[in-house]
Amino acid sequence: MIYLDNAATTPVRREVLEAIWPFLTGDFGNPSSHHALGDAAARSLASARAQLAEWFGTRPAEVTFTSGGTEAINLAIKGIALGQPRGRHIVTTPIEHEATLESIDFLRRVHGFDVSTVPVDAVGRVDLDALAGLVRSDTTLVSVMAANNEIGTVQDTAAIGALVHSAGSVLHVDAVQAAGWLDTSLDALGADAVSISGHKLGAPKGVGALAAHSRLVIEPLLHGGGQERGRRSGTENVAAAVGLAVAARLSSAGRAEASGRVAALRDDLIARIEEAVPFARLTGSREHRLPSIASFLFPGTSGEGVLLGLEERGVVSSSGSACAAGSDEPSPVLLAVGIDPVDAQTAVRFSLSTATTAADVEAAAIAAAEAVRALTQLR
Ligand code: PLP
Repeated sequence: MIYLDNAATTPVRREVLEAIWPFLTGDFGNPSSHHALGDAAARSLASARAQLAEWFGTRPAEVTFTSGGTEAINLAIKGIALGQPRGRHIVTTPIEHEATLESIDFLRRVHGFDVSTVPVDAVGRVDLDALAGLVRSDTTLVSVMAANNEIGTVQDTAAIGALVHSAGSVLHVDAVQAAGWLDTSLDALGADAVSISGHKLGAPKGVGALAAHSRLVIEPLLHGGGQERGRRSGTENVAAAVGLAVAARLSSAGRAEASGRVAALRDDLIARIEEAVPFARLTGSREHRLPSIASFLFPGTSGEGVLLGLEERGVVSSSGSACAAGSDEPSPVLLAVGIDPVDAQTAVRFSLSTATTAADVEAAAIAAAEAVRALTQLR
């Protein structure tokens, strides 16, 4: 099987598994316990936090471990919006992950926040002039993803951050897809808060982290024993935190080389598919694109049909967002970049990893061309 659905999830790296194992067996202490086993767990948790702080370019106290990307994003958006006295206005984009859109909708429905959506262009980049016109004196938070999970477009969050800061507001960046490929430190992203998820990086599902400047007051979502400096109560998942830190360290050590190598494979895949299927349309930006994502429309087919054809030929990919899988609605991301609803149903996303090879790419392009041809001949 050729696995090209790494934007949905990745396998756990062996080094991560080996680092986690002791904390599920012998070193199973609760970091809050006052005995040697508890102290050892607390020390390991502190060391994992310090490693992640290095990755985010923050202080360890500014890193909060969560149950994944969704929780990190919920904590950032609701926690910052409810924690700051500045006002009740939030700005976001139409191409954010549901974790962002639904958290903001919750603030609108339950807390009366006013929400503005900044338009994106045909390749999914935020319109900076429009953003400048939307940020107000009562804007508590702007939330923008570093890279889109469906079309792979990378935002200029540094420019967005400069604009947001000049207006005195706060920027949260969803770096779940960008992590491992781009520099996701707060400084590089121009952000005050950044969310990541372990399972996109070779750590297990169900662990993530939020890094947020300590000057931000964050209203917690989970109340209880006051762990994570009160930002997230609940006994810490030491094993998962250690695993996330190892995954972050490994991906940051090899990032420049991996990004260049995988971007070349991605470009090879794009070129091969464009040659084999002349009517295929690449979505997203050619220039500002994650190394890992190549997403196409195959007009006149159905995305689900192409996926099935690919799977029959041993290639696993996706019709876009894993979260929207099974839904018959066209992707809101594709609609937001101006793709018509019928063409939007023909989307197929290939997402690569550092394990992807040139042979995988060649085989995937052949399989895609065959799958598309079979569908278009059948009609
Ligand atoms: N944000 C983006 C851009 C994503 O792609 C995803 C997952 O697909 C998430 C957030 C949610 O992360 P998690 O699956 O860890 O909850």
